[in-house]
Amino acid sequence: MSFPLEPDGAQMRALVDAAMARLVPTVESYGEQPIYDVAGATDAAAALIAPMPAHGQPLDETLALIFERATRHSFGTPMPGYLAYIPGGGLFHSAVADLIGDTLNRYSGVWQAAPGLVQLETNVLRWLCDEVGYGKTARGFLTTGGSLANFSALVVARREKLPPDFLHGTVYCSDQVHHSLQKAAMLAGLPAENVRALPCDAAFRLAPDAVEAAIAEDRARGLQPFMVVASAGTVNTGAVDPLPALADLAARERLWFHVDGAYGGCFVLSARGREILAGIERADSVTLDPHKGLFLPYGTGCLLVRDGEALARAHALHAAYLPARPPAHPGESEGERWWDFSELSPELSRPFRGLRVWLPLQLCGVQAFRDALDEKLDLARWAAAEVATIPHMRLVAPPELSLLAFCLEPPGTSREERDRLNHDLLAKVAARQRVLLTGTDLADGFVGRICVLSFRTHQDRMEMALEDLRAAAAELLG
Ligand SMILES: *Cc1c(COP(=O)(O)O)cnc(C)c1O
Repeated sequence: MSFPLEPDGAQMRALVDAAMARLVPTVESYGEQPIYDVAGATDAAAALIAPMPAHGQPLDETLALIFERATRHSFGTPMPGYLAYIPGGGLFHSAVADLIGDTLNRYSGVWQAAPGLVQLETNVLRWLCDEVGYGKTARGFLTTGGSLANFSALVVARREKLPPDFLHGTVYCSDQVHHSLQKAAMLAGLPAENVRALPCDAAFRLAPDAVEAAIAEDRARGLQPFMVVASAGTVNTGAVDPLPALADLAARERLWFHVDGAYGGCFVLSARGREILAGIERADSVTLDPHKGLFLPYGTGCLLVRDGEALARAHALHAAYLPARPPAHPGESEGERWWDFSELSPELSRPFRGLRVWLPLQLCGVQAFRDALDEKLDLARWAAAEVATIPHMRLVAPPELSLLAFCLEPPGTSREERDRLNHDLLAKVAARQRVLLTGTDLADGFVGRICVLSFRTHQDRMEMALEDLRAAAAELLG
């Protein structure tokens, strides 16, 4: 009897070697691959529709299918020219960590099942808490992304601030907030109209006065304000809401203060970023997205909560078939237990995400991340200065962190003409296949954006971006 599900040592090596033989040239050519090769994508995807294979297929053909057919027509998210949306990255060290973690396949959902590995993940969260400026009582967990981190933050806030009948609870944020916040409210059972997305100021920031007025109005109507959400870097323009003033306001009004730092929060690792994010340590909870700001592969978000007990109150539930709760932790404050992620997060069984964060930090050291984030701040500032010199270009939002927005605005054009022009501008840049930029609709029209966040993006690529942007603008304006 053969057991195809159990490759032997030689077969395991052959599998990994064959994958590596494809991966190395792929990664080494990221700088030359087209960034936006999507023509024919639908047909290529349709050609992949297939029944479940009854028998095993050859490895080489299978790898060819993945690398050549399935991957080809996608956005170039791991490439240095990816300046669109919020860039990803995909540190190779993390991929190796996943290979190790998935092969070991230990159970990190309950502490007893793998205390040492759970401690590595706990270390990562402790480090992130330290970077944010949280004290010993903070707790957190790694999740799939910012969306679920925001969801758990909202659930914790609701649990701490509202009665069981919570339908009068209201949340305050700017109209630039990421839609995952509205989605979190929807999933948590709050009426959609209970999320007050307030108009922002000229720099796209949430104005504390507007929040204060909305709170007073809502209280007068018998509603129960319970949460203020500040963005630490919006997706539209990179705006960082005034964190200290919003922290003051939330404290005065006794509301939960959440900072959505899914895009910008990891900049706390850079000394300059930390200054821009001053006040983040006063948040009751902070969302970070290591798959953005720490350059990890997709699937790693993070929620940190200043009062770890509050996080546990919203998520801890025991069952008879689970091991006993963990004992006291020698490194934590008096009476604190070892962290048990099933008591701090919505998940029970879960991938061991800790290792994909831990291994790159362990092997590269945190300074490599601090330097890379500083580099992104510099590149965005350089790009903004250059963009501003393009004729008829307006810098709509200079970079606070590493994101800027701009708009080509020749005199005498209507809003419609301008919107079309700026869509054409981005399409022309993308057609050159070296960098990908995306835009967004703001109150007074469509704008282009440059977001620098890939660890592979350096000065040479920014020069290409500006060259292509300049050339595209010149072509359009004739
Ligand atoms: C990306 C992002 C999110 C959502 O995070 P996912 O990881 O995509 O789920 C939420 N808020 C902000 C500000 C973001 O940039």
